[in-house]
Parts: sequence; C-alpha cells; structure tokens
Amino acid sequence: MAESTIVSNTANLSKYLKLDQKGSVIAEYVWIDSSGGVRSKCKTLKGKVSNIKELPEWNFDGSSTGQAPGDNSDVYLRPVAFFPDPFRLGDNILVMCETWMSDGSPNAYNFRHDAAVVMEAHAKHEFWFGLEQEYTLLGFDGWPYGWPKNGFPAPQGPYYCGVGTGKVMCRDIVESHYKACLFAGIEISGTNAEVMPAQWEYQVGPCKGIDLGDQLWMSRFLLHRVAEEYGAKVTFAPKPIPGDWNGAGLHTNVSTKEMREEGGMKHIEAAMEKLSKRQKEHMEVYGEDNAQRMTGKHETASYDKFTWGVANRGASVRVNRQCAQEGKGYFEDRRPASNADPYQVTGIIVETLCGQVEG
Ligand code: ADP
Ligand code: MN
Ligand code: MN
Ligand code: MN
Ligand code: MN
Repeated sequence: MAESTIVSNTANLSKYLKLDQKGSVIAEYVWIDSSGGVRSKCKTLKGKVSNIKELPEWNFDGSSTGQAPGDNSDVYLRPVAFFPDPFRLGDNILVMCETWMSDGSPNAYNFRHDAAVVMEAHAKHEFWFGLEQEYTLLGFDGWPYGWPKNGFPAPQGPYYCGVGTGKVMCRDIVESHYKACLFAGIEISGTNAEVMPAQWEYQVGPCKGIDLGDQLWMSRFLLHRVAEEYGAKVTFAPKPIPGDWNGAGLHTNVSTKEMREEGGMKHIEAAMEKLSKRQKEHMEVYGEDNAQRMTGKHETASYDKFTWGVANRGASVRVNRQCAQEGKGYFEDRRPASNADPYQVTGIIVETLCGQVEG
C-alpha cells in the first residue's frame, strides 16, 4: 500500500521456512537497546530447549547500540524467558535477555534487574499487572499510515474501535501481531483501534510480577517484526502528531492479593495515598516526552499533580466503577506514556507501595 516499501518476498521465504533443520534449533536472542528499541540476533542450538537454564549466555557489540564504550564494548546477554517463535515455527524460540557488563554489573539500560529484586522481596503481595500498549503505525515516510500525503484525515470521532474503509488502517498488521502473540504464549488480552487514525492498542495481562515486563517487551519485538513484513513503521512516541490528535499511553492496571480480596478497597485507597507522595519520581520513569501528552486534554491528567477518582479518565489514576461497587479489584495508573519501560513502571509501583529494597 505505501509507496516506497521494501517488503519481504513471502512466497519465496515460505519455501525455505519449510526446510528441515536436521535437529538444530534457532534461538533469536532479543534485548533492549539504549533508545528503548529492541535488537536481536540468532544462534544455532543443538536441540529442543525445555528449560531457561539450558540457554547459554551470549554477547554483542555494545558500542554499536550505544550501550558500551568502544574500548570495552562487550555486553553480555543473559536469557530470562523464552517463547515459541511464530515466524520460524518448529522448536525454534525467541529469547528475552537481560544485558550485563564484564565487571558483573547490570548494563545502564538493564532496568529489569532492579525491578526483579524489588518484586522478589515483596513477592508475598502477589502483584498482577495488565498493561494497555498504545502505538501508531507509520508509512515508510514517517507519516501515519493511510493519512493523506501532506495532509490530515477528518477530525477524530469515527476511528476509535472503528470498522470500515477510511476508519481503520492496517488491520492486517494488527491481526497478524495478535496471532503471533498467542502463538508465542504472550498473555495478550485484547486489542482495539484507537481515537487517532492509524493508532491502535493491545493489552497484555494480567501477568504476575516481572513476567509482565518480559511479555510486554517480547510483544513489542513481535509488533516491530510483523510490521517489517508489511513495510510499516511502529512508533511508541507519546504524542506522534501535535495538536488535536490523541497521544499514546501505556495504562498500567495493578492489583495485589490484598486488593483482590474482600475489603480490598481500603488497600487501594492506601495505595493512592502512597502514590500521591511520589508524583515526581514516577513521572521520571513514565516515558520520554510524556509532558507533550499529559496536557489535561485528550483523556489525560496534569503532568505535575496526582489525582485519582472512580471512573475518571481525566485523573492520574482511575478506579473502575465495578471495583468501587464490589469494594475490591484493581486500579489503573493512566500516567505512563506508550514508550515507557514496563520494567521501570511496574518496578517503581511495587517500590512505592511496599518499600525500597537495596539491590
Ligand atoms: P480500559 O477500560 O482502560 O480500556 P482494558 O480493557 O484495555 O481497560 O485493559 C484492562 C487491563 O487490566 C487488561 O490487560 C486486563 O488483563 C487487566 N486486568 C484485569 N484485572 C486485573 C487485575 N486484577 N490486576 C491487574 N490487571 C488486571
Ligand atoms: Mn562480528
Ligand atoms: Mn484499553
Ligand atoms: Mn486506549
Ligand atoms: Mn485504560
């Protein structure tokens, strides 16, 4: 559809994908780079993998990804989770990795490590997270997919959960990504077209603790990888188009064991009190350029001030009506931007509600 796309030759590719691998397994190692993007490279293994411990540590040139200086460029990849590979099929896998330095310290962009430490220390509260990942699809030229060249579509209104030509763009990419996630075992819980045309959302969760970050990062990898085959770019920018066009968020739904049980509402209220005291600290890790999105318009709250309310989409945190009626459930932190790191977001929430831990 887009003008100057380089799409893969899927007819030819499918012939080779069917070839017997003679018992070897391909493992695609995936990691997070210095700009919040994903990188990957693959490795042949001798046979089927059934336990994370069977996966060897590996490394890459950190000076090429902005993750290490040239004179000490090795960054180590430590596997933390693996998933069936929806592209190569068979016993092939995708491997989510943490990044580590040669002196045994976590890489500066390894935000999983600290999050895992704080979650482990507070494991008895059994945190669940469900994140709503919004994103925008762009053509090769960087303009939203399907928008008139050098122009704008009609104002927002018909696009949210839209059906029909001119109302939604790239349903084929969204559908492919959804199936790829399910195949990989990602707990994707739904998807919908968003308020701005070419903007979409999918949800991952509820997942327990650190699993949410692992799954969400792998789902982002899958989205970039699927969109590659259609010649579209994915942007997680929180305000891709300035003006009267909705931004993109990463609404974060949270509950603990205590909140889900009878009388849980008082634990949610206690959580609101704690969150209200750390607005600045949270906003610091809730994504780059989030101030452009958090204008108080377009279903967002103020950037500086913490507020919460039942069924209020203009508050920092929304408690849904069902939860308020039942007196138990979960809350929705609406502040994180679409480009936030889910490890940082879920990590600081556990820290604020349960206390800091020396890593
Ligand atoms: P919204 O109404 O804000 O659009 P969505 O339906 O898009 O909400 O997303 C809600 C998310 O909350 C889903 O990912 C869902 O899995 C998650 N969720 C549901 N129950 C819980 C819970 N008890 N704890 C944490 N997350 C939950
Ligand atoms: Mn080389
Ligand atoms: Mn949603
Ligand atoms: Mn949404
Ligand atoms: Mn939401």
